[in-house]
Amino acid sequence: MRRAFLRRAAALVILIAVLALPACAGREPLRATFTAMDTVMTFTVYGKKASLENAESTVRALEKKLSVTDAGSEIYAINEHGGGYADSETLGLIRAALGFAERTGGALDITVYPAVRAWGFTTGEYRVPSDEELSALLEKVDWTGVMTDSGGCKLRQGMMLDLGAVAKGYASDRLRAQLEDEGVESAILNLGGNVMCVGKKPDGSDWSVAITDPEGGEYACVIKVGDAAVVTSGGYQRFFEQDGVIYRHIIDPATGRPVDNGLASVTVIAQSGLTADALSTALYVMGLEKAIEFWRASDDFEAVFITEDGRLIATEGIAPVLSVRGRFRGTEPEIVKK
Ligand code: ADP
Ligand code: MG
Repeated sequence: MRRAFLRRAAALVILIAVLALPACAGREPLRATFTAMDTVMTFTVYGKKASLENAESTVRALEKKLSVTDAGSEIYAINEHGGGYADSETLGLIRAALGFAERTGGALDITVYPAVRAWGFTTGEYRVPSDEELSALLEKVDWTGVMTDSGGCKLRQGMMLDLGAVAKGYASDRLRAQLEDEGVESAILNLGGNVMCVGKKPDGSDWSVAITDPEGGEYACVIKVGDAAVVTSGGYQRFFEQDGVIYRHIIDPATGRPVDNGLASVTVIAQSGLTADALSTALYVMGLEKAIEFWRASDDFEAVFITEDGRLIATEGIAPVLSVRGRFRGTEPEIVKK
């Protein structure tokens, strides 16, 4: 009788130990979903609760500093006064973005804000500006008009900065570094279309990252990657329609008009989140042919393109880990080679 009781008690202790084990080893995912930087973010972290909370705080602190619409931000003050103080981190991001402007021939341009604003993309009060208005605004769109020194930056007359095309990618790099410092080996962070894969899954396999079909419905494809950023830019996320014409939130800095070149989305896969974010926007502006040329001349990213006429095109470095879904099922992706 006593022995039976002991056996049962021992079994119970073992059961409790087994149940407690995954939590102790950080093998259970901790998840948080919240809105920041104008988008819904979901962070999944295999680690301590504090790491998840710290990650959310970091994003909010970056948003406060980098937001173009928040009257308390460094960028807002710079835009108000035609220049001013930026801390070393903001300055570093501005300089990095100017580097991408140069590298992409101005397809990415952090001074495009006057045009973005004229179309109503910051407020949601959409309108189609006149040709005269746009040509006047274009004089204020020129990344070479941004001067930086150790204390901040200065803008040429009437110019304004918008880090919206690079802020989430940069934030994802900061978060990866922070999580790694805290000993987290495994996490997947979704910053609204910007995905950062920290390490691999706890079982050592690659993460599956789904790429949205710009047409809606099921995902277009899934790619398997580890320790990489996957960032998509597309016209389907934010746009408005007037008189049967669709106007998208990514602006061609050369014309001041929304991009309309037959690309539905561009996904860039890179080690750096900033690179992936900057280049997904820039490649979307360039259009398919120029973007492929640009990829051929680069060695720090891979890309997946979806066109409005239903083509799915992958660069050769990502094609082997890509599998099609949804309306692309049963078709082979087109592969571009170096
Ligand atoms: P999202 O922020 O929607 O994920 P992107 O990273 O492509 O997409 O950034 C788009 C944002 O960047 C726009 O909302 C606008 O604020 C700004 N922007 C638009 N066109 C450009 C451009 N050519 N270069 C730099 N920034 C741009
Ligand atoms: Mg971007």
